[in-house]
Amino acid sequence: MAIPSVYHPSYFVETREASMRKLPIVAKAVEASGLGKLFYPPPATRDQLLRIHTAEYVDAVLTGKGPLSESAFGFWSRRYLRGVLHINGGCLLAAELAMEHGIAANIAQGFHHCRPDTGAGFCTFHGLALVAALHPDWKVVILDCDEHAGDGTAEFVRMLPNLSQFCVCGSPLGCKDEMRSIIRQVQPGDEQSYLEYLEEGLLWTLHQNPDLVIYQPGVDSHENDLYSRAKVSAGLLRIRDERVFAFFRERGIPCFFVLAGGYQEPIEERLLPLHLQTFAAAHQVYIQDLNY
Ligand SMILES: [Zn+2]
Repeated sequence: MAIPSVYHPSYFVETREASMRKLPIVAKAVEASGLGKLFYPPPATRDQLLRIHTAEYVDAVLTGKGPLSESAFGFWSRRYLRGVLHINGGCLLAAELAMEHGIAANIAQGFHHCRPDTGAGFCTFHGLALVAALHPDWKVVILDCDEHAGDGTAEFVRMLPNLSQFCVCGSPLGCKDEMRSIIRQVQPGDEQSYLEYLEEGLLWTLHQNPDLVIYQPGVDSHENDLYSRAKVSAGLLRIRDERVFAFFRERGIPCFFVLAGGYQEPIEERLLPLHLQTFAAAHQVYIQDLNY
């Protein structure tokens, strides 16, 4: 009776921001609270990553040689490499678990800003696009509610005909609407518009007839986050998560979620409760289905 939640001890890396430091703290709390049951993923392979990234970029990260290897975080280490490979393998496992159980999570972050040929903004490889690339017969929609729009995702949407995204964000990062990449910007503190854009995003997603939805419930739009422009409350984020999970469960559309952004510290006191309430919302909505 718990959400299948993908995690591996290698996810922990000493990043400057909370980005990867938060992952073991969230995983431990998810397991201890009974909201999630942990599943260990295998690492993504070079062949898998080459389906969406250039060989020059993949090999730079695999070897730690050259400036491209540091393009996501500004540093490279063996531990970091191991972490990002497992995190991206984790998306593939979470997708399979979602197809089986209706809901799953990957206790990870760091996908939607990287490009086919480089990392960017704490994102190394695009594990979400990787799911679409390795399952060309699935229609995959990313519902991205991180503070920042999926500017990297937009490039993968152009590459992959079975991938699309809808972003509800405070910071569009120059992203413009395209055919299968929709961007809605929330003005600071405008929670009513936030929920209206969310409804539009849910209906748009449904209209794409997805086989799988990947939800990015970022908490960096929270009013106290150092990267927030949208400045919304914890209550709004909880309503958002409940609405998203209830919408897809009612329609029988499999969904997995990741953590996405969220940078407040101390992590245990300020950030963990925001990520945990996403798990609580999913658990509340799917509890009757989780009988494995
Ligand atoms: Zn963000």
